[in-house]
Amino acid sequence: MTKMAPAIVILGQNSVSVARKIISVLPGATLYGLAGRTSGVDVSFTNFGDTLRELFAQGTPLIGICATGILIRTLAPMLANKKQEPPVLAVAEDGSAVVPLLGGLSGVNDLARRIAESLHVKPAITTTGDIRFHTALLSPPPGYYLANPDDAKKFISDLLAGAQVKLEGTAPWLSNSQLPIDPKGNLTIQITERLVTLTPNCLVYHPATIAIAVSDTVDVALVQQLLTDAELAPASVAGIFAPITMAANPAIKAIAQAFNVPTRFFTPNQLKSFLSQGYSPAQAIAYTVTSASPTLRSAAIASTSPHVAIAIAPAPIDPSTIGQPQGRLAIIGTGPGGSQWMSPEVKEILKSVTDLVGYKTYLDLVGSLADGKQRHESDNRQEISRATMALDLAATGRYVAVVSSGDPGIYAMAAAVFEVCDRHNKPEWESIEIHVAPGISAMQAASAAIGAPLGHDFCAISLSDILKPWSIIAQRIAAAAQADLAIAFYNPVSQERTWQLSEARNILLQYRNPDTPVVVARNLGRPGQMVKVIKLNELIPEVADMRTVILVGSTQTRTILRRNGEIFVYTPRRYTE
Ligand code: SAH
Repeated sequence: MTKMAPAIVILGQNSVSVARKIISVLPGATLYGLAGRTSGVDVSFTNFGDTLRELFAQGTPLIGICATGILIRTLAPMLANKKQEPPVLAVAEDGSAVVPLLGGLSGVNDLARRIAESLHVKPAITTTGDIRFHTALLSPPPGYYLANPDDAKKFISDLLAGAQVKLEGTAPWLSNSQLPIDPKGNLTIQITERLVTLTPNCLVYHPATIAIAVSDTVDVALVQQLLTDAELAPASVAGIFAPITMAANPAIKAIAQAFNVPTRFFTPNQLKSFLSQGYSPAQAIAYTVTSASPTLRSAAIASTSPHVAIAIAPAPIDPSTIGQPQGRLAIIGTGPGGSQWMSPEVKEILKSVTDLVGYKTYLDLVGSLADGKQRHESDNRQEISRATMALDLAATGRYVAVVSSGDPGIYAMAAAVFEVCDRHNKPEWESIEIHVAPGISAMQAASAAIGAPLGHDFCAISLSDILKPWSIIAQRIAAAAQADLAIAFYNPVSQERTWQLSEARNILLQYRNPDTPVVVARNLGRPGQMVKVIKLNELIPEVADMRTVILVGSTQTRTILRRNGEIFVYTPRRYTE
């Protein structure tokens, strides 16, 4: 089974409604649309061939709402390696046909069935073995791992030629299939978490039934050794389970990575009943995992380490239903406005998070990426309580994005979150993974819109005197002017705060020429974008509002007027006195 979220690729606006239906059954999917022909898509591309080939090379499942021929011709140069190809499907623009083309080994038929079901049509599945047995031996359902895929091809053709197969072990998807099952069959399908010797006449599926519980820092090698000693297959490990206090522990991450499985965590409260019966923390976790659902009961607990317990459940374990994941907090910057200035990393994070925390206007900037997420809106000024709420939420295992406009580290939420961590820390926050994802700041967008006014040394100063006294701001403006820095003024004015900008100009005029170029940029990347160049002595509060950033040139900053009336401002990199 492939784990990457699919890309749905469309060439015209007509395909959007079919694409939306498909997305409703594949929630993580990204919608790619041809620039100029589509709108409201997640990613807009200009070169169809390059985009498709790049996604294919990354192993992204591809759903093209277009003719099969287009997909085949585009991907033809890349079809050398059958084992590594992601699923590729063509869907008719009117939703009347779903054609799996490639990726038989990576679950294309399953994907085709799900898509076809959402469109109320039958998928055009052409894989012989699949039609005949209504099951894909090559791509078992989640929770089962085929240990010897190289033997499968001959095995399936033997079945198609009339051979019978006996089942050893239990797997409903096999026993309920139309396989020619016969206890006296020559072929065998074995379902086992044990390490077994592989032979061509026996397909071995390892079910994800093993829970590894870890209660203290231990080496990956120790866990691997314990598993080998117990003659258990690493492919049957379903997850690594640990106390919530270990969620940020690198050893746990290393173990999970070695087995390529999720980690899930428990609060002391969740382990109480087994701990009070005298079990070690590792055992209590193992028992809690295997008795998490009434059908799961621990079949065995084996371990020679006091900090590790291994439990085998009678049916595959779905870690996503047990305990909680590590809480995650992403502090992200959306850029100044439009989606073209939002980083791919931020878009990726927005797709994965469960919760969005932020000022309403900023959450609105996120657009359709916010669909289906829990929104926690707040007033722009309640930064500390917003940061605390986000951390508390993440500590419960949610994946929370704290959303700022521009860059989250520039006059925004990142510092607020770290301030709260520093001054009001709670022990449960220690388990949270915290990540800051940068964005394009207003000053960069303003600079780009007009040329390169920040092309040499510069600084940023916020004119808001809510969090710092005006005397400090005034001192900084004077120092920056003396140092001949170009200056980006954030928060230049607000409804209640207008005199500061005039004051700032007056201080600057003591050091700079009245005709120093000043860039006034409002609503960058948003509707109503306005960028104009004025002179320093024309800088009055009326030119700005809360959504304006102002760039003041240094003594070196120059203006270029082109014949077509266009104006550029730049600060040369070379300094001349
Ligand atoms: N983190 C943001 C800044 C937040 S402070 C960033 O990196 O851009 C808020 C100030 O940023 C506003 O008062 C304004 O000065 C500036 N700003 C934010 N977005 C803007 C936009 N789209 N256009 C112009 N200025 C903007």
